[in-house]
Amino acid sequence: MNEIFLLKLGEVVLKGLNRFSFENKLKSNIARRMRPYGSFNVHIAQSTIYVEPQNDDCDVDGAWDACHTVFGIAAICRCRPCEKNLDAIFQAVEDYLGDDLSMAKSFKVESKRADKRFPMTSIQLSQEIGGRIAEAFPQVAVDVHNPDYTVYVEVREQAAYVHGPAEPGAGGLPTGMGGRAAVLLSGGIDSPVAGYMIAKRGVEIESIHFFSYPYTSEQAKEKVLELARLMTRYSGRMTVNVVGFTKVQEVIRDQCPEEYFTIIMRRFMMRIAERIARQDGCKCLVTGENLGQVASQTMEAMAVTGAVVDMPLFHPLIGMDKKDIIAIAQKIGTLETSILPYEDCCTVFTPRHPKTKPSLREVEAIEAKMDVEGLVAHAIENTEKVTVRYHGGNG
Ligand code: ATP
Ligand code: MG
Repeated sequence: MNEIFLLKLGEVVLKGLNRFSFENKLKSNIARRMRPYGSFNVHIAQSTIYVEPQNDDCDVDGAWDACHTVFGIAAICRCRPCEKNLDAIFQAVEDYLGDDLSMAKSFKVESKRADKRFPMTSIQLSQEIGGRIAEAFPQVAVDVHNPDYTVYVEVREQAAYVHGPAEPGAGGLPTGMGGRAAVLLSGGIDSPVAGYMIAKRGVEIESIHFFSYPYTSEQAKEKVLELARLMTRYSGRMTVNVVGFTKVQEVIRDQCPEEYFTIIMRRFMMRIAERIARQDGCKCLVTGENLGQVASQTMEAMAVTGAVVDMPLFHPLIGMDKKDIIAIAQKIGTLETSILPYEDCCTVFTPRHPKTKPSLREVEAIEAKMDVEGLVAHAIENTEKVTVRYHGGNG
């Protein structure tokens, strides 16, 4: 084929941690993510993954887009493979990068010689190819310090490769290296971003959504499933647990003082989420909470909410500014869906004056009069598991 992708590994290399299994995991993640786009050969050598389309039916642009969303990759480039001799390398530069080069003001060549049998040093190779480019593109100046465009030549084991500047990869660690987490997913802006952030650390995720039909509509549920589907572009296939939460909310409304509605509701969410998480082998819960955003997101309220669970609770957005959260939502493609109007179960029976500094003792005293276990069990029984994927197939 006349074009392939080179994917450079990220932190995997730096850490030296069990590198072999990291690399293999990454390789199989990429192979799986390429599948919807046709037949690709994926192999790894010298901390670089080679993704080669096998025939003309491959959707190379679709595959290239997908490469941007695979965690564990620092940088990616599309390149032209060629024979390992000067004429072939220069020919590849001219054919493959000629358009970019002719639009640049200045250029330099940077070479890497991974195949030490190649008879020139990388400096000699850069000089030779640079000289030929200068001749062929006389209007483009050579500038080795601050070039407008850089031509890269890599001489590797099987072939030489030429490419322009690399693009940033998705970063993070390969999915599947860091255990499994359950993300509490609402229809808002924050929780999909929180899920993305935790997934980026190599963690497999599933989602839990609390759904209070008919107080929240079928469209609100569809919206959350769509958000989950968008997240799978990064996380891979995902299970969404849609928890029937109506009864819990009605009982809270009927039996608790109004200013405690929100905090007690959130404690029920945590109890139910922990139960589902344990059943599914998740080792932590993740929320989109952000300190100080709303009444339930004070330190005091979060302490009372967190006191009810016995597994790590992660809040990846806790210290971020809203505009930075929004920028990530935009980048990962969830923002547009998040800002569609919707009702969340949090907005059902919202107290006029929620307690911003609830005391654990008071909350526990109120809950002591409720059938907590019965309500949790009822919600678990009324949970529907939905699988979402980015592509209809095995995305
Ligand atoms: P988001 O933008 O994620 O909705 P938020 O700023 O609206 O967050 P809250 O409504 O207080 O904040 O919710 C805080 C967190 O609680 C959410 O980020 C989410 O993790 C979880 N959460 C809230 N409502 C639900 C729900 N209906 N189902 C599942 N999790 C929820
Ligand atoms: Mg919300």
